[in-house]
Amino acid sequence: MEYRKFGSKVDYKVSALGFGSMRFPYLPDGQVDEAEAIRMVRHAIDNGVNYVDTAYMYHNGLSEVIVGKALKEGYRAKTKVATKAPVFYMKKADDFEIFLEEQLGRLDDHFIDFYLLHALNKERWEKIVLKYDVLKKMERAKKEGKIGSIGFSYHDSDFTRFKEIIDGYDSWDFCQIQLNYLDMENQAGVEGLRYAASKGLGVIIMEPLLGGSLANPPEAVESIFEMAEVHSERTPVEWALDFLWDMPEVSLLLSGMSSMEQTKDNLLYAGRSKVNMLSEQEKAVISRVQETYKDLVLVPCTKCQYCMPCPFGVEIPQVFEAYNKSASYTKGEAASLYKNLTGKADQCAVCRKCEKMCPQKIEISSKMKEIATFF
Ligand code: SF4
Ligand code: SF4
Repeated sequence: MEYRKFGSKVDYKVSALGFGSMRFPYLPDGQVDEAEAIRMVRHAIDNGVNYVDTAYMYHNGLSEVIVGKALKEGYRAKTKVATKAPVFYMKKADDFEIFLEEQLGRLDDHFIDFYLLHALNKERWEKIVLKYDVLKKMERAKKEGKIGSIGFSYHDSDFTRFKEIIDGYDSWDFCQIQLNYLDMENQAGVEGLRYAASKGLGVIIMEPLLGGSLANPPEAVESIFEMAEVHSERTPVEWALDFLWDMPEVSLLLSGMSSMEQTKDNLLYAGRSKVNMLSEQEKAVISRVQETYKDLVLVPCTKCQYCMPCPFGVEIPQVFEAYNKSASYTKGEAASLYKNLTGKADQCAVCRKCEKMCPQKIEISSKMKEIATFF
């Protein structure tokens, strides 16, 4: 395992790979395969992983319980544990304390090393975190020895909002952002990564494989990787992870692992990782892949949700997502994604309310006509 600096405020070297506990494997009866999940977490720790991440909401609360069990029998001493406060469920001032106690109970622990406010955006920051004085409550919990480092994870449309949150509190120790080679300018983006690192924060990367989709790229992309004259034996997963590990500002990558095979593969890749590991030729391969993906995108929707809700029930970003997938997958696969949506393109009444809100200036109503015909 390779270990990396975790910003300048936390005196701890983190493993390049963290264990994300949001995609545990399932049994055929639909229950989480707890025994296999525990085996995977322990295998990762046995091979040097020292950061295990969970959250209040993962697997409807079961993830924290399973992580707690996995860390018995001596494993707790070998790793730090991170979990996230469900900010979006906080409706009154003392909810913070109530959730924290519940989480400690689920983990069957007295201390959470890294505690994050989950999925902050502008609205949650202003209407929950600031309104209920949650930051002071975190500091109190830290003084009481219930939590260690203080951080947040971010899901909002752009860097400006991310910067507001970073600048809005002096004592952030770390943050968690979505980043991968297709999301360089989405959400916090690479600008957010650099800004947070410049402020001394450790930066954790989530969704390095964009929800797994970069593991199975479309044919046009796969052939670029296969034809690459440099390290063509790398899998698409390893290309995507190496792209991030190359960056000195990245502390660790979180991967939500669903099988022992994925866990072993990721451990292997993490062991080979280094800061500045990519040559100029290798970076050029990724640039070609980014360009190819751009050509495959039919609608430049960033899923920012500004256009929602549609008064006629159209699930606008999801409709665009299914349509975009039709360019990279077979039409059949995209059609089955589309079929499961409750608000389809043909529900559009061309009111054009959404178009005023779209920062990408997409002519949403005419696209809806096109998509309804396509599917
Ligand atoms: S134009 Fe269509 S998609 Fe947009 S808000 Fe109106 S009905 Fe909904
Ligand atoms: S259609 Fe526009 S406003 Fe709606 S989610 Fe996509 S980019 Fe955002």
